[in-house]
Amino acid sequence: MLVNVVISIPSSHPFTYGVPEEMEKQTAIGKRVLVPFGRRNTIGYIVELNPSMEIKSVKDILEVLDTEPLFSEQDLDFYRWTSQYYLYPLGKTLKMSLPGGIDAKSHRWVYPSDKKRPEKMELSITQSRIMEILADYPQGLSIDNLKKVTQKKDILNELKELQDLSLINLKDRIEKAAVKKKEGFLIKHLPLPRQDIKITEKQKNVYAFLEKHGESDIASLRVQFKNIGATLKTMKYKGLIDISTQEVYRTRAPIAHIGEKNREIQLNKQQKKVLDQISEGIRSCQYFPCLLHGVTGSGKTEVYLKAIEEALAMGQSAIYLVPEITLTPQLMSRIHGRFNGDIIATIHSKIGRGAKYDEWRRISRGDARIVIGARSAIFAPAKDLGLIIVDEEHDTSYKQEDHIPYNARDLAIVRAKKLGATVILGSATPGIQTYFNTKNRDFRLLEMPERVAGRDLPAIEIVDMKQEATGGSPPVFSKGLIEAIKKNLAAQKQTLVFLNRRGFDAFLCCLDCGHIFKCLNCSVSLTHHRNEGLLKCHYCNFQVKSPPLCPSCGGARVHSYGVGTEKVQEEMVKLFPDARVGRMDSDAVSTRGSYEKILISLDRGEIDILVGTQMITKGHDFPGVTLVGVISADTSLNMPDFRAAEKTFQLLTQVSGRGGRGDSPGKVIIQTLNPENLTIRMARDHDYLRFWNDEISIRQELGYPPFSRLVNLTISSTNETSLTGYVRTVSVAAKEAAALMGGNISILGPVEAPLYKIKGRYRWQMLLKGTDISSLHGLTKQLLNNFNFPGMRIKADVDPVNFM
Ligand code: ADP
Ligand code: ZN
Repeated sequence: MLVNVVISIPSSHPFTYGVPEEMEKQTAIGKRVLVPFGRRNTIGYIVELNPSMEIKSVKDILEVLDTEPLFSEQDLDFYRWTSQYYLYPLGKTLKMSLPGGIDAKSHRWVYPSDKKRPEKMELSITQSRIMEILADYPQGLSIDNLKKVTQKKDILNELKELQDLSLINLKDRIEKAAVKKKEGFLIKHLPLPRQDIKITEKQKNVYAFLEKHGESDIASLRVQFKNIGATLKTMKYKGLIDISTQEVYRTRAPIAHIGEKNREIQLNKQQKKVLDQISEGIRSCQYFPCLLHGVTGSGKTEVYLKAIEEALAMGQSAIYLVPEITLTPQLMSRIHGRFNGDIIATIHSKIGRGAKYDEWRRISRGDARIVIGARSAIFAPAKDLGLIIVDEEHDTSYKQEDHIPYNARDLAIVRAKKLGATVILGSATPGIQTYFNTKNRDFRLLEMPERVAGRDLPAIEIVDMKQEATGGSPPVFSKGLIEAIKKNLAAQKQTLVFLNRRGFDAFLCCLDCGHIFKCLNCSVSLTHHRNEGLLKCHYCNFQVKSPPLCPSCGGARVHSYGVGTEKVQEEMVKLFPDARVGRMDSDAVSTRGSYEKILISLDRGEIDILVGTQMITKGHDFPGVTLVGVISADTSLNMPDFRAAEKTFQLLTQVSGRGGRGDSPGKVIIQTLNPENLTIRMARDHDYLRFWNDEISIRQELGYPPFSRLVNLTISSTNETSLTGYVRTVSVAAKEAAALMGGNISILGPVEAPLYKIKGRYRWQMLLKGTDISSLHGLTKQLLNNFNFPGMRIKADVDPVNFM
């Protein structure tokens, strides 16, 4: 038997191996195998059985590492597509998308050989020490552990010499940490062997318990009896019980309950109308793509849940994607309130290796029928997948920046198409591209223009901060916002105060010489974290103590400039000493569970004012919030990105949408230096359609997506001088190749990236723009393959979202 195996290397090409007869039964597509590769052993994924090829001489696989496949043939087809479209090698694509912990690590181990050490052989002190240690470990030691014991960092050369002397053997061993199933013990009582056997009172009780229940696992016994371990051992020894191992899933964290639960909701008319069409799609078992454009608070989540019910009833399973940060208590509690927890699996970046692996198996076995998760859940091996939901489909967190630069929203469409499934993209502010698809492709447009229960969208007021500045720079809060918060507090209602990004806001500046404190590794200002007295880089995590004097001129007038979330919180406390002010940003939620805690307090009304970043804009539903303040709408408008307007419109609409979701109407105050800006005005008017029409004509004029496709090439190096040369060479080659291809592709740049230096690397960008994806792919592949300068990195981002 032969198999084709792909390996996590820069080439997608499979390698053929033989399968020893005793392993044939275990061999299947989707399993990992240990294979000899070059001078090492490495892990590969079986992608084909019995490939037709001339058998020359193939090496054999060494071990089959999985008991069950990690992906099916159908899944593989999807992985292949992903790998080809995003120009990322198949082996690496598999490695990156399968649960992180699944990929076992190969470690070098050292074993003492049988050879006796000749008397006169000269060994170094370290080598003698190694031989001494190994004498106690005939089963071998990993090099890592050997380093620890010898307290030497570099023992490789010493080991090599020992190997040459045949005193030791070096071998690769695979550590299958997360792969090991956690085993539970299944305990059964056996018929009493002899009447005269002596048993203690406790053993009698345990025996009786088992007799009554037939069998039990150790955890349940532990609840009933103290110190059960020793007792069971004795009982087994006496032949009273039988203990066998049983595979168990790790226990999953309990679901916190937030907000209303279990309330049976009658869909209103507009929801019903939309659901009817979706159900039709689900029942057709055909590819059915639709956009659910529903304003904030129109009850989209309810529609999703009903659609899932429909899919389950059809014997299908469903994947429900949400942006990472909204995957928290409120939604989970809502879903768990509706469906049996046993059929729900959760996949996101914060769950542990083992837990993720367990979820993966529950899904691929068909035990879990609803997969809820962040972007990586699009790869979940769901069985009979019939429905994929992408909530807040416009959200940029669906795009992965590192490794495979995939967009889970786009992959959802691809996967649905391949499987003949229904895919619902939902949003109050659909991406320009998605809305375009409803007009120019087969996407069905489903609309919910009204909030539930006749609630109004919040009234939005724009405040011109230029007018608020009396003399110096504008204040952080306008008078109007302060007044509104005061009133809201008096009415015992909650307020959200939103700041765009924590990074760009508070930085330190010398008022004497104008010195700005920048990160040494990245070309960005350091952010001032006043509470900790630190300056931090939000790109590379570089930090320094904030100095009292300016390092450039020695002046003492070093001031914090601009505002960050911390500063706003501080100011809020000063302005409203009686209010309970909370904060939510990536610092405030860096410890486990803190995010949930903040949301729970908000839900319980224990927070009056919540200051936060993007995190507070997403998906939450808090009926008590009636006022939303946006400190500045300008930051996102000024981003160097052709989607700046789209992102601003989405941000403002989403943050406004958090207000007035309960019985009292909501109010939103947007502060800006550009009150005439059309994007801001259309957000105020809740006029998505006008915004879309404006934006789409600009895109068309400039030939940006959806009228073209882009590939962003980032060329980087730690050596600034040689990088400039590389960049020139690559761009000349790119332009020549593009010309040869008939002028379909235009090349923008190369330019220095807006963040020119990150983590010590200088970065240039070059944008390839074209209407034909296969020629764009072709050109990009050519450039990736042909340019491998030492020390230079060239990375391709297909359908880029982030241009920083
Ligand atoms: P969206 O996702 O569109 O922002 P949600 O689905 O979160 O809206 O719904 C907003 C609120 O309205 C939720 O508290 C939800 O329970 C409630 N809701 C949804 N549909 C109905 C309905 N038909 N009748 C009453 N309340 C509803
Ligand atoms: Zn930095």
